[in-house]
Amino acid sequence: MKKLFIFFTIVWMGTVVSSCKENTTKTTETNNDGLLMATLFVQQSSEYKALCYQVYNFAQTRLDQKIALYKGEKALAVIVDIDETVLDNSPFSARSIIKNTDYPKYWDEWCNKAEAKPIPGSLEFLKYAESQGVETFYISNRKIHLTPATLKNLQNYGFPFADSTHLFLRNKSSDKELRRNFVRQTHDILLFFGDNLGDFSNEFDDKGTALRQALTVKYQNDFGEEYMVLPNPTYGTWMNALKENIAKTADMDSVYKSKLIDF
Ligand SMILES: [Mg+2]
Repeated sequence: MKKLFIFFTIVWMGTVVSSCKENTTKTTETNNDGLLMATLFVQQSSEYKALCYQVYNFAQTRLDQKIALYKGEKALAVIVDIDETVLDNSPFSARSIIKNTDYPKYWDEWCNKAEAKPIPGSLEFLKYAESQGVETFYISNRKIHLTPATLKNLQNYGFPFADSTHLFLRNKSSDKELRRNFVRQTHDILLFFGDNLGDFSNEFDDKGTALRQALTVKYQNDFGEEYMVLPNPTYGTWMNALKENIAKTADMDSVYKSKLIDF
């Protein structure tokens, strides 16, 4: 009888533990193994912060050069993506790891807190751009219902031009080209900032890894010229490209290891 009690106790405990974890299968649906070190890199390494400062410091030099050379008549602007470009959502990644969940679980809850901190150097740069007469447009694939929370977050930290006329979230398409072209009607864009290559051109959208790499070589002279790329090891289109043609039930450890380039 005592053995039977212990057996049922172990079974019950197993049920409780598994119900506390929201998903324990390492498929494409939820596999946060890699996210742990990537999130720690963002939150704890000084190298991540230094990379961000490097981008925005260099951007200031490029902005000065571009303003000095500008011969046009239009108003001047820069276009920035929001997530992992000017706002740090690493606490959302941390929650995903702790709860073993995946986007979009907890995403709206996190955004509605409006507490995402500025990416290092971003706020200083955009304020500098404003001081030089350059407007900022925020083009993000956050869904449209997050507009009030996003504006509140940007305003909480004093980001310039954080108003509804300078913010374009995703309505139907995640392709940002239409929104960039809308800004181009009235402004000349001096610099673009993003952590995904789709933040610069829709040529990079919906491509597999090999084609993305080829396009990156093709446009290599644009990086640091007008395209300013922020580091983001935690998620992005590069990860979606890795999952191209992979079943959702696939063992992702094996899939990812199959992508490694060994010597
Ligand atoms: Mg982004």
